[in-house]
Amino acid sequence: MTSESTPRAGTVAGAAIPQTVAALRAAFDAGRTKPLRWRLAQLDGLRRMLTERAAEFEDALLEDLAKNPTESQIAELGFVVGEIDHMRRNLRRWLRPRRVAVPGALMPARARVVLEPVGVVLVIAPWNYPVQLLLAPLVGALAAGNAVVLKPSELAPATSAAMARLVPQYLDPTAVAVVEGAVDETTELLAQRWDHIFYTGNGRVGRIVAAAAVEHLTPVTLELGGKSPVYVDESVDLAAAARRIAWGKFMNAGQTCVAPDYLLASRAVAGRLADELANAVRALYGDDPAQSPDYGRIVTDRQFDRLTGLLGAGRTAVGGGSDAASRYLAPTVLVDVPRDSAVMGEEIFGPVLPIVTVDGLDDAIAFIRNGDKPLALYVFSERREVRRRFLTETSSGAVGFGVPAAHLAVGGLPFGGVGESGSGAYHGRRSLETFSHEKAVLSKPLAPDTLQLIYPPYTEGKDRF
Ligand code: NAD
Repeated sequence: MTSESTPRAGTVAGAAIPQTVAALRAAFDAGRTKPLRWRLAQLDGLRRMLTERAAEFEDALLEDLAKNPTESQIAELGFVVGEIDHMRRNLRRWLRPRRVAVPGALMPARARVVLEPVGVVLVIAPWNYPVQLLLAPLVGALAAGNAVVLKPSELAPATSAAMARLVPQYLDPTAVAVVEGAVDETTELLAQRWDHIFYTGNGRVGRIVAAAAVEHLTPVTLELGGKSPVYVDESVDLAAAARRIAWGKFMNAGQTCVAPDYLLASRAVAGRLADELANAVRALYGDDPAQSPDYGRIVTDRQFDRLTGLLGAGRTAVGGGSDAASRYLAPTVLVDVPRDSAVMGEEIFGPVLPIVTVDGLDDAIAFIRNGDKPLALYVFSERREVRRRFLTETSSGAVGFGVPAAHLAVGGLPFGGVGESGSGAYHGRRSLETFSHEKAVLSKPLAPDTLQLIYPPYTEGKDRF
């Protein structure tokens, strides 16, 4: 089918949502998105968009989040380019039908698993990594041969506008559309019939998405958040651990789903760790992080007010300063934080790092098990037995030993949560599988008819087939 005979979708206003989805479905049904050639061309187009128009995205991220362009390259544009390259290198091989063994009783026969595109999919992204979290799922959706609607977050408006402007210039507008907007538009989108919904964001909206999906029994991937704990013991180099933790926590001003949310440490470790965190913050952002071009800002006044409301628990060991006008909140470390304080009652999602004192390993593990299953768990310990116990006695989307957040850059690792931190996963091959249906195919020749051994009438011995 040619683009002339297919209604054009591209970027749409909220009112045109049903027509847009219908147009994409027509393109999908006509087989437009299925050929490997089309898929590879889309991945190439996406890659070109991210390289040729990098400056426009970097400007948008600077405007939305005061994100430093180098950080935007590492964690947003470059990240997606890495996903594209990994997918492109492997796609042909991953799409090959996978042979599986046939039980002897069914022989002769051949069984294989074939990946087929699911159809028209919806990707809903949040504001904190507004390029990565919209486009990394798109890599999988396109590689799998689907038509796609992208819904960027309204809370990163410059990035959302850049997507709406640029995506139709680089990707097939008859099969990929950007719908901008907030609750009304997303509600309208969720009322449509989809073949997969991929949502990244908070659990409250995750429940709205899951409830909407029930109507058409649409499969959903929920990439949610939660409180990701860090355990540090005295066996490690605390200065080195503090540098890693400060990097993972204060990147993007703490607005990272896999950022360390809080630290668990013994009383002896907590004090020294707080000192080392102060050194690490100084090394990363200088004496006054407000002046650092590398330190981000809080996304909205509402988030800023929520975060400043969480200060005041325990004792402020590092930072604590803020400026409402510029939505600056200093990298902050709180020590002696009571377990029942507000900062321990919700996902922080900002540059505030509480240290909760624990009474040894058992206490730390019990504390983690007592809460929701986190998106990630980080352990800094040279002791194998300590690492083994966390791995086997707690459940989380991922575990990082000695490093926070970086697991998501390993293309071979599935990225996703468990329980309250989400369901389903993506990245690399797992993205392709997430947006595909694994079709089971069995082929058995009519002759010889070995099945006559089990046809009725059920005479003596057929039960031992
Ligand atoms: P957000 O406010 O941008 O919301 C996410 C999306 O949901 C947006 O596109 C928004 O338009 C839409 N939305 C908001 N309210 C809605 C409603 N009532 N009905 C339908 N759609 C609605 O982003 P957020 O939720 O504040 O993002 C932060 C959260 O996301 C944190 O909890 C964080 O941990 C989580 N997160 C998870 C990951 C991950 O990969 N697992 C990544 C980033 C963020």
